[in-house]
Amino acid sequence: MWWSQGYSEPGSGSDLASLKCRAERQGDKYLVNGQKTWTTLGQHAKMIFCLVRTNVWDDQRFRDQIALLEVDVVALEMLVLRVLSAEKSGKQSLDIAGLLKIRGSEIQQRYTELMMLAAGPLTRPFIWEAMEAGWQGDMALPAANLPLAGTYFNMRKTTIYGGSNEVQRNIVAQTVLGS
Ligand SMILES: Cc1cc2nc3c(=O)[nH]c(=O)nc-3n(C[C@H](O)[C@H](O)[C@H](O)COP(=O)(O)OP(=O)(O)OC[C@H]3O[C@@H](n4cnc5c(N)ncnc54)[C@H](O)[C@@H]3O)c2cc1C
Repeated sequence: MWWSQGYSEPGSGSDLASLKCRAERQGDKYLVNGQKTWTTLGQHAKMIFCLVRTNVWDDQRFRDQIALLEVDVVALEMLVLRVLSAEKSGKQSLDIAGLLKIRGSEIQQRYTELMMLAAGPLTRPFIWEAMEAGWQGDMALPAANLPLAGTYFNMRKTTIYGGSNEVQRNIVAQTVLGS
């Protein structure tokens, strides 16, 4: 079966975040209004994977959480660049390496939490098969959502492995704050 990609719109190509096509939930269907363009092999496709705006986004608290996460991701990137730059210039920077692990793993978890919130019940309970490489999902269900629950549970480990975040905080306190 041919699937096409419904990303680009007139006026939203490189700047995909500005796309305007909307999907409104009507019972168990979505009513899609808007335009897509550049749809390669669209004339043969039976299905289309479409990027659209929904009302998940109209929820102010959800929007705030996305914005906060974005700020934290950018801040983490800056921190990584600072560590790399210090390493390059021969300065000692290992004392804040623990911070990268703490912030990075917490962000990973928040990211998967927001994915679960966005997809709601469609994330489904944990599915063993979804952990297998090459798993394609159950065609009767929206396959793109199925691995979310598995990913969410899998990310719970990140604040424990690689040195638990509590231990990392102790190390940062001792090496940076000297307490
Ligand atoms: C053959 C082909 C097949 C495609 N198939 C599909 C498909 O199947 N499904 C789908 O959804 N899309 C598809 N696309 C669309 C493709 O993803 C877009 O063309 C691409 O993202 C660029 O967007 P745009 O054409 O709107 O150009 P614009 O975003 O309008 O860009 C115009 C020019 O400005 C430059 N530019 C824009 N922003 C910046 C910036 N911030 N900094 C520097 N330069 C910038 C670009 O590099 C470009 O040269 C296809 C495109 C082509 C050419």
